[in-house]
Amino acid sequence: MTSIVVVGSVNADLVARVPALPVTGETVLADSMTVIPGGKGANQAVVAARLGGDVALLGAIGSDAFADIALVGLRDAGVDLDGVETVEGPTGVAQIWVDDDGENSIVVVPGANRAVDADVVARHHDLVAGADVVVLQGEIPLRGSEAAARAGRGRVLLNLAPVVPVATDVLALADPLVVNHAEAERLLEESERPVPESPFAVIAELHGLGPRSVVLTLGPAGAVVLEPAAGVGEPVVVPTPHVEAVDTTGAGDAFVGALAYRVSQGDTLVDAARTAVRVGAFSVATHGAQPSFPTADDVLPSVR
Ligand code: ATP
Repeated sequence: MTSIVVVGSVNADLVARVPALPVTGETVLADSMTVIPGGKGANQAVVAARLGGDVALLGAIGSDAFADIALVGLRDAGVDLDGVETVEGPTGVAQIWVDDDGENSIVVVPGANRAVDADVVARHHDLVAGADVVVLQGEIPLRGSEAAARAGRGRVLLNLAPVVPVATDVLALADPLVVNHAEAERLLEESERPVPESPFAVIAELHGLGPRSVVLTLGPAGAVVLEPAAGVGEPVVVPTPHVEAVDTTGAGDAFVGALAYRVSQGDTLVDAARTAVRVGAFSVATHGAQPSFPTADDVLPSVR
């Protein structure tokens, strides 16, 4: 049995380093550009596998030259790719600009990721249904994510990045729902709920949407966890190590992949988040998304 199945996006990332992010109508000259594997689904699968997880990815690549680039990190990390289908047309591409402060702007062209619908999940039903943890994000068609959440008999980790309007029964399966602060605000606004100032109040509002547990990530402020089923009725703050941020791209994915891995190993959500903040912090201290993800040895002792 594969313990973690990620159903999500696979991209090639075109990363340009710029002195400052362009404002509307502005042209800036980049200092450099690299082409590296990315996509939230692939990133999270790579992190979980690098840390030691038994991971499979369900997704799609196109028939172009970006497909091999998109898969290289997954192959190196030993992720099972039997569930990655090839469709006619372009592979997903993310155009990423990173400035001198490590801040980024990203435009994602979904390409083949648009093909990851309920039919793909149905074709790989046994893989999804047999997983201990099914990890989902918002970069594939909603019907695909919803089908995977409903097909799984294991735990559903729902990272609503970006925010998509998931069905109420799917939100109710989330254990946890994981969002960053901006996504939390968006989700609450779209649900016509108040958006409080304090992260504690925000996480309570998010829990009111129906998920079994919630993790709110807060960048350099770490994360807040609410896991009522573990007997912890109050939110728990999990601080992150202080690091010099050079590139925050993929920090959220590093966090989610590590969280999935630790949850698959039987950790409580709070304990899993204690590892995940260290993995997230490690990733912001290094350039790129997948190239910046640690192995278990890089973040010992808390990972094994
Ligand atoms: P991104 O969209 O940049 O990939 P995100 O907004 O989804 O990230 P964040 O909340 O920014 O997610 O970061 C996820 C985790 O990474 C945080 O909980 C924290 O542990 C770590 N992290 C992010 N930024 C920093 C930082 N500047 N210093 C230390 N840790 C950080």
